[in-house]
Amino acid sequence: MNPIHVNAERLWSSLMAMAAIGATARGGCNRQALTDADRAGRDLFTAWGRAAGCEVSVDAIGNIFLRREGLQAGLDPVLIGSHLDTQATGGRFDGVFGVLAGLEVLRTLDDHGLRLNRTLEVASWTNEEGCRFAPAMLGSGVVAGAYDLDFAYARTDVAGVSVAAELDRIGYRGSVPARARPFRAMFEAHIEQGPILEQTATTIGVVTGIQGAYWLDVTLEGVSCHAGPTPMESRRDPWRAACPIIEGAFAIAAGRAPWGRATVGDIKAIPGSRNTVPERLVVSVDLRHPEQGTLDATVAEFRELVGTHAARHGIRAGIEQIWHMPPTTFDADLVELIDRCAAALGLTRARIVSGAGHDSLHTAKFAPTAMIFVPCTGGLSHNEAEDASPADLRAGADVLLRAVLAVADESGRP
Ligand SMILES: [Zn+2]
Repeated sequence: MNPIHVNAERLWSSLMAMAAIGATARGGCNRQALTDADRAGRDLFTAWGRAAGCEVSVDAIGNIFLRREGLQAGLDPVLIGSHLDTQATGGRFDGVFGVLAGLEVLRTLDDHGLRLNRTLEVASWTNEEGCRFAPAMLGSGVVAGAYDLDFAYARTDVAGVSVAAELDRIGYRGSVPARARPFRAMFEAHIEQGPILEQTATTIGVVTGIQGAYWLDVTLEGVSCHAGPTPMESRRDPWRAACPIIEGAFAIAAGRAPWGRATVGDIKAIPGSRNTVPERLVVSVDLRHPEQGTLDATVAEFRELVGTHAARHGIRAGIEQIWHMPPTTFDADLVELIDRCAAALGLTRARIVSGAGHDSLHTAKFAPTAMIFVPCTGGLSHNEAEDASPADLRAGADVLLRAVLAVADESGRP
C-alpha cells in the first residue's frame, strides 16, 4: 500500500492562522491560558474540528476533545494531544504543533476517505504552560488524578483571578467529567525546545521519556563580619563552602552525561551587603536525570558534597527538598513504533529524552504514551523567535499519522 502523507501546506497555514491569535510585535505569541486570546484560539480549533465532522466535547477543567468515530464500537480510542496556550512571550509552535498535527491527521484521513477501526480523539489540554496559573500541565494533571478539580479551580493569577472564574468567563467550563478514560495510545508531537536534534542534523526525536527532577534549597550559615578588618583565615564565610559545592554539582551532573543536569538558578546572600561577609547563603539547586535510580544517586552524592565542604570550612549546612518530579518512561512498544514509522519514511531519527515537562507526563499515568520531537531553530523555545521548518513539521506529522494508522487500524501498517 502506498503510504499516505499529511498536507504540509494546510498544516502550515493552520499553524499560522492560530499564531495570528495573540500575535506579538516580535513575531511570537501571547495566548496565555484562559485569556480572551486563548478563548479565540479554542473557538478556532473547535470550529475546525466541527468542520472536520468531529464531535466536540469540553471537560470540567476546560480540556477540549475532538472525536472522530471509529468503525468498531467498544475499542479504546487513540488520543493525540498537546496544548494551545503559550507563554507571555511565547512562540508559534510550542504545544500548538502537537494539537494541529493531530487535527491534520484527521483531515488527511478524510482526504483519503479512510475510516479506522478505532475512534480518534484530538485533545487540547488546559493551562500547560503554567505562566499565568501555577502549576503547569494543570488540565492533563487533573485528568490524571495528580490534582483535585477544586484545587485546580482555586488557582489564581497575579491579579487574584481564579481558574474557575476564567473558565466560566470564556465559556469553557465543560460538562464532561475531567477524569481518565481508557485509551489504546496517546501521542504528542512537539518541538524539541532544545538544540540536540538540530546539532546532530536529526529530523525525528524518538522520545523515550521525560527527565525527573529534584529542587533543593541549600542553606549555608557562617558568621557575618566586616569585609575590611577581618583576616581571611579568621572568617567563617559561607561562600568558601558554596563555591566548591556549586563546582561539585556541575561535576556530578557531567559525570552522568549525556542526561545529567545541575542548575543553580538562584542565590540569596543574607544580609546582602557589599562590605559584609554574608551570614547565610540560600542556593537553589535543580538536579535532573531520566532514570530514578541515577537521579537518586545524584542527589545522594550532592548531599554528601554539601556535608563535606560545609564541615571543611566550619559552615552549618541544611538541605530542604522543595519539589520532586519522578522521571517518566514512555511505553516501550509505542516508542519502538515511532522509531519504525520514522525509518519507514526514510527520516533521520534518534532516541532522545525530554528535558522539559509535557502533558504526556500526566497521560502516561493512564494511557500508553509516547512523544515525537522535531527540531526547532537554534534550540530556542519559550521565546518569541521560536521557529521550526515546514519540512520538519511535515515530517513529524507524517510520523504521527503513520503511528496512529498502525495502532488505530491494527492492520499491520506500517
Ligand atoms: Zn509545550
